[in-house]
Amino acid sequence: MQLLKVRVHTSRGISGHYKNHFESRHQDRLSSIKAMDQEPIGVQGSKRIVVIGGGIIGSSIAYYLSERGAKVTVLERECLAAAASGRAGGFLALDWNESTPLRHMSHLSYRLHQELSLKFGPEHIGYRPVHTYQVSGVETSAVKSPLKLRHRAERGPEGALPPWVDGDMRFVEVIGSTSSTAQVHPRLLTEALMGCAVSRGSSMLIGTACGLLQSADKRIMGVLVEDQDPVHADAVVIAMGPWTSQVSSWIPGLQVGNNIGQKYHSVVLRPQQLVSEHCLFTSFKYASGRIVQPELYPRPDGSVYVCGEPQSLPVPSSPQEVRLDPSLSQNLRSAAASMSSVLAAADVEAEQSCYLPLSPVSDGLPMVGQVEEIPGLYVASGHSCWGILHGPATGLMMSELLLDGEVKCLPAECSAALCPSRTL
Ligand SMILES: Cc1cc2nc3c(=O)[nH]c(=O)nc-3n(C[C@H](O)[C@H](O)[C@H](O)COP(=O)(O)OP(=O)(O)OC[C@H]3O[C@@H](n4cnc5c(N)ncnc54)[C@H](O)[C@@H]3O)c2cc1C
Repeated sequence: MQLLKVRVHTSRGISGHYKNHFESRHQDRLSSIKAMDQEPIGVQGSKRIVVIGGGIIGSSIAYYLSERGAKVTVLERECLAAAASGRAGGFLALDWNESTPLRHMSHLSYRLHQELSLKFGPEHIGYRPVHTYQVSGVETSAVKSPLKLRHRAERGPEGALPPWVDGDMRFVEVIGSTSSTAQVHPRLLTEALMGCAVSRGSSMLIGTACGLLQSADKRIMGVLVEDQDPVHADAVVIAMGPWTSQVSSWIPGLQVGNNIGQKYHSVVLRPQQLVSEHCLFTSFKYASGRIVQPELYPRPDGSVYVCGEPQSLPVPSSPQEVRLDPSLSQNLRSAAASMSSVLAAADVEAEQSCYLPLSPVSDGLPMVGQVEEIPGLYVASGHSCWGILHGPATGLMMSELLLDGEVKCLPAECSAALCPSRTL
């Protein structure tokens, strides 16, 4: 078994603890990830970069920076993928942002996901192309015995309901094919990206950022960490998802929105039989008359992810304080059971909730780039429902900005549209 070098901060007890945790939790997966680069492509000097937040965005930034030889510290208050990046669906679409400034970013990131699946091995990150359908239906209470599918999941004819959808449902239209839609397991991808960055000399520190160190001329000098020594840095990237607004209290005069998150629920079902690779976007009417839009993503590991049921509640102070509403989770299970007898008979593997990070700007676009007024401060946040799709492009973009001073992978108008200074 190939052993990867894992470099972590050892000067603090808690990160030493994380070293053991990281090694034991990820060693099997890391060592089976194929052909990782042990040598960086080009060593880019000694700029000290700290990324705050170990979600898909922070891990993608660390990955692409480390590909260029930079050694990054990712500061995370809980664990990798502790929030939305560990509970998202992982649906990817090439061309669903065509009429927006995110068009080029979607195209780039879709291609980067394909590259990452080849690098890590699709089976290690739950990547595969999928068929994507819009369907609609109504709740039925009739108890059906689970449909018998053959051992290999049946696909059914193109443009018809997949065989495992046997409730009172109607096919509406094909909205994505295997050349334009795909899926990835968000937590596995986040772990693979960070694991690779660590193998190239980057590190992860468990701790809660609570402020920024600045020089008299406002330049960023480092990050203050609760109950730990400060971490010194020449550049700091805020990738804290819906908690990015906390930065407003760290720097007087900086306003990064307020309550920039929307709570959602999801369940992971484990059917007894394999279901085909059809991602379903639904319009579903409960018996009560309420209409909802749950999304169903069968995964390559045989589980089926179902999400929906938003709830308007303030973002709590940490991911640990996000509480599941059992009645909303039950709604998702009932909807899935009504759509499919195979899902009605499935075991429930997980019931969870998390906060979608919203953009603090009325244009709804993420903030990705440098905060012009504060040298050394960068933001990569507010990716809304496309954070898993846009993670790799955000990582590549930020690596270019931090190491070259300009974004080369996207047209200038695209990076300008995402510039954080349009709001701060
Ligand atoms: C139900 C649901 C389904 C989704 N499905 C999809 C999908 O199919 N496809 C897609 O592209 N996107 C999807 N998304 C969106 C996607 O999940 C998010 O856009 C993405 O995960 C955001 O990543 P992030 O790294 O910005 O934030 P997060 O995942 O929220 O990570 C932020 C991290 O920062 C850490 N942090 C916060 N404050 C501090 C601090 N003070 N110090 C240190 N660390 C801190 C947190 O602990 C957390 O780990 C979905 C979202 C939801 C809610």
